[in-house]
Amino acid sequence: MGRRKKIKSFETEEAKKENLEKFSKEEKKRAIKFLTPPEEGMKYVILIGDGMGDFILKELNWKTPLEVAITPGMDFIASWGEIGWCQTIPSGLHPGSDVAIMGLLGYPPEKKYTGRGPIEAASKGLVLKPEDVAYRCNLVTLKFEGKDLIMEDYSAGHISTEEAIELIESINRYAGTDKIEIVPGKSYRHILIWRGGSGGLTTYPPHDLLGKNIWFAFEAYNEEPYLKEFIIKAIEILEKHPINLKRKSQNKPPANAIWPWGQGRTPELESFEKIWKLKGAVISAVDLVKGLAILAGLTFIEVPGATGYLDTNYEGKVDYGIEALKEHDLVVIHVEAPDEVSHEGSLELKIKAINEFDRRVVRYFLERIVEITDKYRILVCCDHLTPISIRTHSSKPVPWAIFDSVRNREKKKDLNFCEKTAYNSPIFFKSGPELLSYFLMREPLNLEES
Ligand SMILES: [Zn+2]
Repeated sequence: MGRRKKIKSFETEEAKKENLEKFSKEEKKRAIKFLTPPEEGMKYVILIGDGMGDFILKELNWKTPLEVAITPGMDFIASWGEIGWCQTIPSGLHPGSDVAIMGLLGYPPEKKYTGRGPIEAASKGLVLKPEDVAYRCNLVTLKFEGKDLIMEDYSAGHISTEEAIELIESINRYAGTDKIEIVPGKSYRHILIWRGGSGGLTTYPPHDLLGKNIWFAFEAYNEEPYLKEFIIKAIEILEKHPINLKRKSQNKPPANAIWPWGQGRTPELESFEKIWKLKGAVISAVDLVKGLAILAGLTFIEVPGATGYLDTNYEGKVDYGIEALKEHDLVVIHVEAPDEVSHEGSLELKIKAINEFDRRVVRYFLERIVEITDKYRILVCCDHLTPISIRTHSSKPVPWAIFDSVRNREKKKDLNFCEKTAYNSPIFFKSGPELLSYFLMREPLNLEES
C-alpha cells in the first residue's frame, strides 16, 4: 500500500460529517435559492448513470473514474447549473438500485421499501393481493463438501431460460400448492409467490453466499415450515430431473435447488402523477427499474436494443425519451452499463462506460431536447456508487448536477462533474426524495435538518 494522500472523499463517515459542517446554514440557504418554482410547460429529464460514482484510486493518481473520464456534457450541467451531493441510501438499507431509485422517484425507501421480490413481480406484470408475499427465487447449484453445504453457483451456470422454464414447471406440478407457486422468469431469475404468506423471514441473497458454507442460511428457512417443505420438495424434484442429469453429463452445474430471497409485500406507492401533478415516463433495461415505474404509475417505455450493458442502444434511449416528452412532463433514463463493468472490476471499461453515457446520452439529449422545447430542467446523477476497489455497491453519498435552461443563462465557473466537485458544494440532500423535490421544486425544503 502506497502512502494515502489526504484528500477529500466520500469514503468515511467522518469525512462526510466534516464536509457537512464545513458550510454554514446561511451558505446552504444562499446556494439553494437559485431554483424558483418552475415555468409552465417545463420539461424534466433525469439521467441516471448506474453506479458511476467511485472512490479515489491509486491507479488514477488519486482521482476517481468520473474525474478522469471525458464528460463535457455533465461538466456543462455542473458549470452552468448546480452541483451537489445526496445520501440516496438510507442507513440500515442495502445500497441497491431498487432502494436508491425508489428514493430518487420521491418515495422514502425507509418507509416504502419492502424487498426486491415484489418490485420484480411488478415488472413482470404480476398483481399481488395485499396479503401475498413475493420472493425473488434463484435456481442455484448447491454442493456438499464433507459436512458443509456450499453455494457453488448462485445462477446454476446461467442456466438457459428454456431449461429453467421446464424445471420450474415440474416444481409447480409436483410441489406447488394453492398457496405457493413459482412464476418463471429468465435464466436463473424467477419469482416465488406465497399467497397469504409470511414476509418476516431472514433470507440471504445467494450471490453473497458464493463459495460459503450456507447451513446457517439454509436453516433460516426452518422458521417457515410451509415454505421449507416446498423448498425440500423442489430439491427432490430437481435432483433427479432429466435436465439436470443431462447438465451433469455435460459437466454443467445442475440447478439442484431453489433459493427464495428478497421477499416482501407489494409496496404502497401513491401515483407519481398524483403527488407531483406531472406525467412521467421511465426508460431502462433493468427489471427492478421497470417494476418501480409500474408501481409508481409511471409509463414504462421499452427501447429496442436496450441491453443493460456497454453495447446498449444509448441513442435509442434518448430518441424514445425525446418522443416521450411530447406526451409527458418528465422522463427518467437509466443506464446500467457503468454499474455492470464496476462489478467486473474493470477500470478501463468503467471509464469507457462513463464516456459513452456522457457522449451518447447526456450530450445527445442536450442536442435533441432543443428540438421540442426551450424550457427544460435536467438532473444527472448516479443511484449509488459502485467503487471498482470493492466491486460492489457502496452507501456513500452520490454526486448530482442540475441545469435549468430558463434560469441558468451563464456559466458560473468551469467545473468537472465528479465526486470531489460535488463534495465541495454546500448543497447536500440527505435523501433521494429531497433531491427530487429540489429538482421539481414543488415543495419547500427543510434545510434545518439537512
Ligand atoms: Zn450493481
